[in-house]
Amino acid sequence: MTAPIQPGTRLICPLIAATVEAMRADMIAAVAEGADCLECRLDYLSHPPDDEQLRDLLTNPPRPVIVTCRPVREGGRFDGQEAHRLALLRRAGRFEGVEAVDVEFDVPAEDWPAEGRKIILSRHDFQAVPDDLDELARAMDQSPAAVNKLVVQPAGADEALRVFDVLRACRKPTLALAMSEAGLITRILARKFGAFGTFAALTAGQESAPGQVSLAEMKHLYRWDAIGPDTDVFGVIGCPVTHSMSPAIHNAAFAATAQNAVYVPLRIEPGNEPFFRFLDAVRQRAWLSLRGLSVTIPHKENALACVGAEHCDALAVRIGAINTITLREDGSLRGENTDYAGAIDALCEAMSIARPGLKGRSAAVLGAGGVARAIVAALREYGATVTIYNRTLPRAEALAEEFGCVARPIARAGRTDAEIVVNCTSLGMHPKVRATPLRRLPESVKIVFDTIYNPVETRLLRDAQAAGRQILSGVDMFVHQAAAQFETWTRLPAPREVMREAVLRALGNNEP
Ligand code: NAP
Repeated sequence: MTAPIQPGTRLICPLIAATVEAMRADMIAAVAEGADCLECRLDYLSHPPDDEQLRDLLTNPPRPVIVTCRPVREGGRFDGQEAHRLALLRRAGRFEGVEAVDVEFDVPAEDWPAEGRKIILSRHDFQAVPDDLDELARAMDQSPAAVNKLVVQPAGADEALRVFDVLRACRKPTLALAMSEAGLITRILARKFGAFGTFAALTAGQESAPGQVSLAEMKHLYRWDAIGPDTDVFGVIGCPVTHSMSPAIHNAAFAATAQNAVYVPLRIEPGNEPFFRFLDAVRQRAWLSLRGLSVTIPHKENALACVGAEHCDALAVRIGAINTITLREDGSLRGENTDYAGAIDALCEAMSIARPGLKGRSAAVLGAGGVARAIVAALREYGATVTIYNRTLPRAEALAEEFGCVARPIARAGRTDAEIVVNCTSLGMHPKVRATPLRRLPESVKIVFDTIYNPVETRLLRDAQAAGRQILSGVDMFVHQAAAQFETWTRLPAPREVMREAVLRALGNNEP
């Protein structure tokens, strides 16, 4: 008689080494990284192990083990005979440290390589989230297997949310998750919904399925140990979204202030319609406790349209974009633009003035894209005079006309008589770090603000500092916009120093 499956949500590390020795070594490494369950993927071994090798692998493992030998037909690597595969699983499943044996849904119960109370019955769809997902889950729930496992491929984060419906409906321990970037939320929130477990790779590059994050990311970036049924959820909507620094900065802030909250990446395909679909899917699932959203490229304009101008701050409406949504408990939404607020507040802080102190000050804004638009609108709102310098002059002229400024070609920026220079072009951004939008700094310029944050210190800022001018980096703006979001959502003062350190760490990690 085998021990029953233990309750609790496991952080499972799939082990995909090619040899038994390496897989055994990876067990130790995975436990050191925080895994509390190990999946031995026998199909990744270069040769099917003999009895002695199985003994070396599975005797006294440092954590409970799941054995899996996934056939090619279900996305695995085992391409031998089915009878040999099941025999291997049967031999492996007899070891005491093996908590469960994974077997595919299409294997008849009479051929299962272990008794039902040790079986994880699994089904993978690498193409889509099947329409009949709920029925499939019900059928699995009625089988004699101890655990249901359902893995799907969502087109966007809205579809991925259906996985949570399954977790909530199943009566047996269930592992349900969605793959790829769009499914990340399902991997991170497994504990919130009491899933049997979630998978996390030993290190980046050792994933056994698309979208798996590493153990270290799960524990340290996504607050695995802090997540429970009552955890509030926040996230960033974008496409792509995996490289956003927002999860690092917000999760660090939640941890520093002991909030029962987690912040996740949410991939939504471009366009208004996918954005609407996601918000609808969220509204139908109040139990998700989604409280706030950051919005990044390409959705800032869609977000304004979806939330509705009447629910957004007036300047955000003039800018035509929001980057922050608050979801209230009554289901209503509120939209804000903390990009402009972050930029303007970072600038005011550096100048030791409040926003009204900008009145009558003169600024040269370099660039006429999305960021320039937000900053020009805010500078004008608080009474600064603004000249917009851009490579494509008609773009600068259109922006200048809208906000009552002057437009000039970028080549003339070196002749500005403004006190403040704000670079909103991408000149100087990684990898072309030797570029600068301004080769000569006129005497009038007292403060230079570069919105670029990668690198933290651009050539423009280095030149300005060498010339004795005050400087302000894109990191300051990024921290201020995130801090404003944090304060909107939590009504607490943002731990700005912690947030700044998180951004600098994330930028360090992003460097090639
Ligand atoms: P965008 O809409 O694509 O605008 C890009 C701007 O850069 C345009 O004015 C463009 O001029 C100009 N530009 C690009 N290449 C140029 C070149 N070779 N020579 C001269 N001008 C050039 O981009 P965005 O969203 O506004 O972002 C602009 C910058 O803001 C980025 O560098 C990004 O690092 C920074 N940013 C910072 C934060 C933060 O929180 N700190 C957040 C978002 C973005 P044309 O009109 O002539 O094409």
